[in-house]
Amino acid sequence: MSRAVDPSRMSDDCIFCSIVAGDIPARTVHETDEVIAFLDANPLARGHTLVIPKAHAKHIGDLNETASGALFAAVTELTPRIQSAVDADGANVGINDGEAAGQEVPHAHVHIIPRFEGDGGAPIHAVGGKRPNLSDDELDEVATAVTAAIDG
Ligand code: 5GP
Ligand code: ZN
Repeated sequence: MSRAVDPSRMSDDCIFCSIVAGDIPARTVHETDEVIAFLDANPLARGHTLVIPKAHAKHIGDLNETASGALFAAVTELTPRIQSAVDADGANVGINDGEAAGQEVPHAHVHIIPRFEGDGGAPIHAVGGKRPNLSDDELDEVATAVTAAIDG
């Protein structure tokens, strides 16, 4: 059912904003003022769930503190409950941030993918490309650059 959403929190032509607005149906499993969780329409596993902030933002780094706090609190709460609901043995929890990482829907979302012993899947390490062969000096340089980018 359609519901009024503050236009400043929505983006036109965003499929997940349309789900938040109730204009596109979804199998919603959890909802608060800040987040909504629903089953992925094309699941990688039984119970594959997407958790999204209701306010539109493309990148995880675009989320304000309220949205990111609510998003990760929901992921923390939902992950074990989803596993239990589908009797899973584990779960992969991940975000495709940006097209290069495989993001297709430009509204930040966290995938919770239940995993089952012997399901033939792979760990999250499998998402990377060819592993770089970094020397200790190069690793030190990366650590310095990342620390500077974080601390300013
Ligand atoms: P991404 O590659 O952007 O991280 O993943 C987007 C996910 O959204 C995909 O797993 C895809 O199956 C799911 N998805 C795309 N459109 C819809 C939709 O309209 N409804 C639901 N429930 N899931 C969708
Ligand atoms: Zn959106």
